[in-house]
Amino acid sequence: MYKNILVPILLDDEHDTQASYLAARTLADADAKFTVLHVMEAIPSFVATQLPKDALDNSHDQAEKALKQSAAALEGASTHLAVGHAGRFIVDYAGENRVDCIIIASHRPGIEDYFLGSTAARVVRHAQCAVHVIR
Ligand code: ADP
Repeated sequence: MYKNILVPILLDDEHDTQASYLAARTLADADAKFTVLHVMEAIPSFVATQLPKDALDNSHDQAEKALKQSAAALEGASTHLAVGHAGRFIVDYAGENRVDCIIIASHRPGIEDYFLGSTAARVVRHAQCAVHVIR
């Protein structure tokens, strides 16, 4: 059904990426392209200047590793690690890369009071393409 699918993920144990990958496979055309994306929050410059340079490089490397490890469960997927504001970045990336479907989790498991977390809400509201929300 879709040819260019973006799967933004959080890299922590609380978020179940398998459900997102299953949805991606199910909604994909046979020749579809998958991109698994993680957006790291930018560290404010007044904090960054206090940190040893290694600390920033290490956190980037660790995120890259965790992202690749997770995305390996979605065969054929490429990965993209970015720094910025998650909601804005996801929407902009989708617009600039002709993404036709974004697969996003609705919120953290357990926080069922909210229908949508803040990042998911922003993506649903602003994306120009289809958005599949995992409940
Ligand atoms: P919650 O605050 O309950 O975790 P969010 O809206 O932040 O809800 O997260 C819902 C989903 O949005 C995540 O499971 C993930 O798919 C996506 N998402 C949130 N933050 C990021 C991020 N920094 N990078 C990539 N995807 C993200």
